[in-house]
Amino acid sequence: MATTRIGRTLLMVLAPLSIMFTMLLVAQQNGYMSRTQNRPLPKPMSFNGTRENAAFVVLVRNSELNGLRETMQQLEDRFNRKYNYPWIFLNDEPFEDKFKEWTDGLASGQVYYGQLNHTMWGYPDWIDQEKARESRAAMEANGVIYGGSESYRHMCRFQSGFFFRHPLLDGLDYYWRVEPHVKFSCDIDYDPFKLMRERDLKYGWTISIKEYESTIPTLWNTVKNFMKEHPEHIVPKNDPESLLPWISNDGGDTYNLCHFWSNFEIGSLAFLRSKAYLDFFNYLDQTGGFFYERWGDAPVHSIAAALMLRKSEVHWFYDVGYFHNPYYQCPREPAWVAAEKCSCDPEGSFDTHWYSCTPQFLEVTHSKPTDYLITQR
Ligand code: GDP
Ligand code: MN
Repeated sequence: MATTRIGRTLLMVLAPLSIMFTMLLVAQQNGYMSRTQNRPLPKPMSFNGTRENAAFVVLVRNSELNGLRETMQQLEDRFNRKYNYPWIFLNDEPFEDKFKEWTDGLASGQVYYGQLNHTMWGYPDWIDQEKARESRAAMEANGVIYGGSESYRHMCRFQSGFFFRHPLLDGLDYYWRVEPHVKFSCDIDYDPFKLMRERDLKYGWTISIKEYESTIPTLWNTVKNFMKEHPEHIVPKNDPESLLPWISNDGGDTYNLCHFWSNFEIGSLAFLRSKAYLDFFNYLDQTGGFFYERWGDAPVHSIAAALMLRKSEVHWFYDVGYFHNPYYQCPREPAWVAAEKCSCDPEGSFDTHWYSCTPQFLEVTHSKPTDYLITQR
């Protein structure tokens, strides 16, 4: 009798307790889930010095998770584990939980995941979508690279005019664009964001190259019209600080197709958010060239930089060993290779390749590669 009573009393106490416990557990899990989806848990960070208001910004698809993780691991090991800058991931679709977990784990700083709205990734109402479809078909038939891809065009327009206005970047001063699959082959022993601020730099790049003309048939004419209508935004072409001679061999009459390869960029968000840049982007966007042709964000950013920034505001990150298929930048200072800080072979570095625009950049800016060495070894 006594044991049954004790048993019944225990049951009466334990049953509600276990129900409460289960409810608490579920609530906690739900809380955790909603935190990882919106705002991740704060991380204990190892770096106690001052960081700039800056972040890595990565537009990426769920399917590119593993290529991204390789890149993240390298950038963390080569640089960020010393600084713990945050990572911002953007996608036109919702990020999968697995994507979040497997990238969060590699980041030494905070991680943020954002989705793009229809303004940032979609057709503006003045675009004739039938005309856009026809031009894609024609460009594909002509063998233009990504000529038939609709998503590539949304991507280029987003990178040209919108990423810097995404709310996750509010309050930041600098961004470092990163793509899945790119490689970082040298240690980065200084803070490039700090360099940007200290030297008042607005745009940093590693590789320069020429654009496929078939992707931008009317871009330069549009740019020329913009320059006529908005001379207030342009560095005068007779100013010794003008970078126009880097993108035009005839004083602005034609475009020589040179641009900074925008898969790597370290840039000032204030520049991209400026009235000058926004006027420029909106002017281009109104023509529909992102959809009726296949204007890339690389020529768009580069032309803006060359017309609106001064030479001294544009920095070649010569000493950042960098690979994006199929080209790479590798510093050729013997001391660097001997110190085994780089794993690339300077022999094949793209900066001296015939298709590179870096020799012309050096000529126009009266500079030499070693002027861009930040870490002295
Ligand atoms: P490429 O470098 O010109 O060959 O173009 P990529 O395919 O590397 O695309 C440039 C960047 O945009 C990369 O970071 C891609 O992950 C990203 N990207 C391209 N297309 C899409 C897309 O449809 N959705 C998302 N979320 N990201 C994209
Ligand atoms: Mn790429």
